[in-house]
Amino acid sequence: MTGGADAAPTAAAPDTDAPTAAVRVADPLTTDAPTAAVRVTDAPTAVPASGRTRVAFDRADAPAASDETWTADPRWTDLPALALPTGRTVVVAAHPDDESLGVGGLVAELAARGNPPEVVVLTDGAASHPGSPTVDPARLATIRAEEVREAVAILSPASSVTLLGHPDGGLAESRTQVEDDLRRLLGTAPVDTLVVPWRGDGHRDHRVAGEIGATLAAETGARLVEYPLWMWHWATPDDPRVPWDRLRVVDLADASVVRRHRAVATHRTQVQPLSADPRDAAVVHPDLIATLDRDVDLLVVDDASRPTLRSDYFDATYARRDDPWGFEDRWYEERKRAVTLAALPDRRYGRVLEVGCSIGVLTADLATRCDELLALDVAPAAVARARERVASARHVRVEVGDVAAHVPDGPWDLVVLSEVGYYLAREDLVRTARAVRASLAPRGTVVAVHWRHPVADYPLTGDEVHRVLHRTLDLAPLVRHEEADFMLDVLAADPRSVARREGLA
Ligand SMILES: [Zn+2]
Repeated sequence: MTGGADAAPTAAAPDTDAPTAAVRVADPLTTDAPTAAVRVTDAPTAVPASGRTRVAFDRADAPAASDETWTADPRWTDLPALALPTGRTVVVAAHPDDESLGVGGLVAELAARGNPPEVVVLTDGAASHPGSPTVDPARLATIRAEEVREAVAILSPASSVTLLGHPDGGLAESRTQVEDDLRRLLGTAPVDTLVVPWRGDGHRDHRVAGEIGATLAAETGARLVEYPLWMWHWATPDDPRVPWDRLRVVDLADASVVRRHRAVATHRTQVQPLSADPRDAAVVHPDLIATLDRDVDLLVVDDASRPTLRSDYFDATYARRDDPWGFEDRWYEERKRAVTLAALPDRRYGRVLEVGCSIGVLTADLATRCDELLALDVAPAAVARARERVASARHVRVEVGDVAAHVPDGPWDLVVLSEVGYYLAREDLVRTARAVRASLAPRGTVVAVHWRHPVADYPLTGDEVHRVLHRTLDLAPLVRHEEADFMLDVLAADPRSVARREGLA
């Protein structure tokens, strides 16, 4: 939370990358100083043209509202609980100490449940005491690295700690590199939950860290969870920028509250003065530390993500028209089917699973390329029409089935995901993709084809679907066909090109 980064660039010029914390300082030369230097000379509270909420605060002051004021607010007691993340969880801190101050309780709870999160710290924290007569920035970075390792060891001894060491206060400037570093760190293993600083926290490094997190969550299919930290300093419960509707609580056992206290205390350079010199003052206000007595951590979740479309949506669609998408008549559909079939790397397949077969038009074509075909759709009306269409093909079965609930047992030599992924909520798609991967034959292939234009009813766009599939399936990209209207990917466990498969190359 430190790093003088709350003292974002002070030039008032409209800046598309304008800091959330537009903290105006009296003396630009001291913008990085920890306490008195971040003096607010005015209180710009208007929402700038960019639409980004500006926040002004001085961390030398006491928080705008006491902890009692927060907890006495009736909305506080009504906050819904957030279920503890399961699976791979990565906690991102902008600075060494955000992990303890922001989500120390959550990290301790996860550790107690046997699910230690990975901790990544983006900056070196070297800017928390500019002009200090006691410690220079390089030494400070070294000390803070030790502090954060010690803190995480208290919260969650089995957690890994990765220090990316980017410049404190400079995340906006090094955004691309930070994003690349974090992307590399996340790797190809699935990420279930990404915990990052809240984008509205009023601190530039925190905002940028949150934005990078949002980008990578979208890429990986991880659930994004944000944590406010400076909000507890600058906001009052009635401040319209407090995201009450998106706040969730994680209840903490006493042991986790104690661990959070101990972890925060470990950040000695932040909670204790380095010397009597004003430039060495403690960075974190004691009243902010008092909020750590809470037996909860508060997180911001984005529940705007849409749920998976239910079968009644499709029932209604098929009730209106026999062929709602014009599979039978439209040249667009006929051509796309031809592209799909042409893209399949093998002439013939053994066992094929077609997900979301609709009225069976593609099903009939696929039937000519395989020994066995199981076609599924969630809508009984569609299944009935598909069955009629392929009635003469004994090796084809058409069933009512929902892959978001269960992917039929493989091994499948080919799985066809044609115009189906965007009906699923992101987490359902990720889970389904993992199940598909697990059911794939050792040399299995997945072909995915999706409409790219946004559709208001659908939880995801086609492009998002393909990003998630690439990431989650972790198969060799054999074919990518991309045009304005649709995207096609062939992802295969066998990385050989068609020419190599045929011995031509
Ligand atoms: Zn921070």
